[in-house]
Amino acid sequence: MDAVKLQMPKVSVYTVPTDLPESDGTLAWESTTLVLVEIDAGGKHGLGYSYADGATAVLIRDTLAKVVTGCNALDIAAVWAAMLAAIRNLGRPGIASMAVAAVDNALWDLKAKLLDLSLLDLLGAVREAIPVYGSGGFTSYTDKQLAEQLGGWVESGIGMVKMKVGRSPDRDVARVRTARGAVGGTRLFVDANGAYTRKQALALAQSFAELGVSWFEEPRPSHDLDGLHLLRDRAPPDMDITAGEYGYDSAYFRRMLAADAVDVLQADATRCAGISGLLGVAALCEAFDLPLSSHCAPAIHAQPLCALRPAIHAEYFHDHVRIEQLLFDGALLPVDGALRPDRTRPGLGLILKEQDAARYAAH
Ligand SMILES: [Mg+2]
Repeated sequence: MDAVKLQMPKVSVYTVPTDLPESDGTLAWESTTLVLVEIDAGGKHGLGYSYADGATAVLIRDTLAKVVTGCNALDIAAVWAAMLAAIRNLGRPGIASMAVAAVDNALWDLKAKLLDLSLLDLLGAVREAIPVYGSGGFTSYTDKQLAEQLGGWVESGIGMVKMKVGRSPDRDVARVRTARGAVGGTRLFVDANGAYTRKQALALAQSFAELGVSWFEEPRPSHDLDGLHLLRDRAPPDMDITAGEYGYDSAYFRRMLAADAVDVLQADATRCAGISGLLGVAALCEAFDLPLSSHCAPAIHAQPLCALRPAIHAEYFHDHVRIEQLLFDGALLPVDGALRPDRTRPGLGLILKEQDAARYAAH
């Protein structure tokens, strides 16, 4: 196929207030910002995004847009390499990789559309649908709100749910007991976002296990690889220790895996330099024989996770689910607890609802 020249990308920023105040073990927020990239080539329109700071949009506009304009839309690996070269002096973690991610995700959407394929068919499917876990259970919720949200997911057919812990360690066992009461025998996960000391985390791993918790995410901050390794060694056998959401590059994920720090690796294509980066993370998981789960942004992850062999489930994060339904037509909802990509829709299958989105546009 002849080269298809990329036009100058367009960048937009949307800030969407949460429906209720949200907090986890170490952070509280009342709005979430999505940085959207739209790129045209060969008469097709690609879109991709990251959940990131507005500064990410400035970096795309001022630096990455010039790098990608005029490149061949079919050669994503070459465009990705050019973007990484351009951010060398800025450092890979953080805003720089989120900026590359938003552009890279748009490039994958665009290439699939140029070939008139769903993204899943461009990547090559290993499964038709990916199970999700409902994720929310914020520490800012009352017990009633917590029980209603988690119980609602179970009622809708979702087979796994996750709640936040770590804001008030004295109350966490009672909150988990409330959640267990609401979800019956459903698989129950907790995420501490790095809030606990090692000793707290060791003690709580036992208490949570007695309530049937089978996933303990970031019991320690994710940079404490020794601490995560300790938890992985000492936690009850039915409990997975997990981390990886702050991974921006392959070296980070390799270090985490080589330290025997996690039972399941998490990764986020809106942070780790896009779907191109996520493909590399999946290869690392295979090399270490460990499973992969996606973090946040279900509308970006559903199709790649159906194409990546180590993937076991996708996070169905309340905040992002809401935003993706508000801003896009075609954002999937789970059926029988899984996201099943519509392979008749080209690319990511998303169309921006321009009028609705304009309400949230940041100026
Ligand atoms: Mg987390």
